Amino acid sequence: MADNNIEASFATLKQTIPLLLKHKVSAVPTNYALWYTYVSNESPELTSAVDNLIENKVQVSEIKSKELYRSYLAEKEEVSAWELRQSVEAMLIQLSQSLQDTRSDTSTFKQTMDNCVDDLAKVEKEGLSIEEVMALVRNLVKDTQNIRRSAISFNSALSDAHKEIEALRGQLEKSQQDALYDALTGLCNRRYFDEELATQSLQPGLCLIIVDLDYFKKINDEYGHVMGDLVLKATAKKLQSTCRDGAQAFRFGGEEFAIIVPNSKFATARSIAETMRKAIEKIGVKDKRSGEILGDISASMGVAELHKGMNPLALIEEADKQLYKAKNLGRNRVMPMA
Ligand code: GH3
Ligand code: MG
Ligand code: MG
Repeated sequence: MADNNIEASFATLKQTIPLLLKHKVSAVPTNYALWYTYVSNESPELTSAVDNLIENKVQVSEIKSKELYRSYLAEKEEVSAWELRQSVEAMLIQLSQSLQDTRSDTSTFKQTMDNCVDDLAKVEKEGLSIEEVMALVRNLVKDTQNIRRSAISFNSALSDAHKEIEALRGQLEKSQQDALYDALTGLCNRRYFDEELATQSLQPGLCLIIVDLDYFKKINDEYGHVMGDLVLKATAKKLQSTCRDGAQAFRFGGEEFAIIVPNSKFATARSIAETMRKAIEKIGVKDKRSGEILGDISASMGVAELHKGMNPLALIEEADKQLYKAKNLGRNRVMPMA
């Protein structure tokens, strides 16, 4: 059967249904056949009879429809049945297309499809009467509506599930990021630091710098927490930009930072710390409310080198001890001296 035949008969059927509704006649097989034939203009006599009624504003009522059917179509069953069979096939093609579109293989859909195919086979084998073919068409229309409804809910369920999965994936990514990065400064966080230090401590030549901002509480007290946060961000940026020789900066906690300097001698780590200290001295943060530039920012630092037999905790303690010395000696300095 040529595809354009199927398409044409399906198009006819599609136009037929609105006419049934328009003329308020029931969707019984005879009415389907009547309006189907009218739309397809298969019987010019019928078409002109109907057009006549419409022109004269005579309602094509239920009784009038039956009359028309008897006069023009009753003996032409064969032709109409063949046309209708094509419509049924076209409908099946559209149904299967809509199933593919929804990417559904649910048993309900499959069952409906199978039933349609079985019914269609009956049309062919048993040569059903036009009434029976019409009943089949009616069922198909109903099934199409049902399938469309399930397809819509299936689709929206799919898209809901898709959205949910996307949201979950986003949350997961974020929580993974949260687990490794500090939200304020964007530096790697303390947890990341602990893991990295444990890994690096297995390699020789590991140094650690601990950085603590001087009198940071005063900045918060005098300029507010927002400004305090800006200073922390600016510090993190300076630390990151002055990292070299494989050094990596972390937010250790509060106004404290740590720099892991792997595979380096103490002198190198100390030199990096000195560069960082000078960079921090140059920080100027603008207070948006007053326009004032907040300067005079400084940090004290303790540097330590991992020696044989030291574990990561001992390295942190040593760097901390040196930091404490730097604070006691007046701040804004790197300890030990050399
Ligand atoms: P010192 O020179 O002895 O280190 O003095 P300090 O004021 O820097 O040290 P102290 O430990 O007394 O105060 C640290 C302050 O850092 C206290 C705390 O409120 C502040 N702080 C910690 N984390 C944050 C933060 O994320 N944002 C802001 N704005 N302040 C923070
Ligand atoms: Mg501190
Ligand atoms: Mg401090």
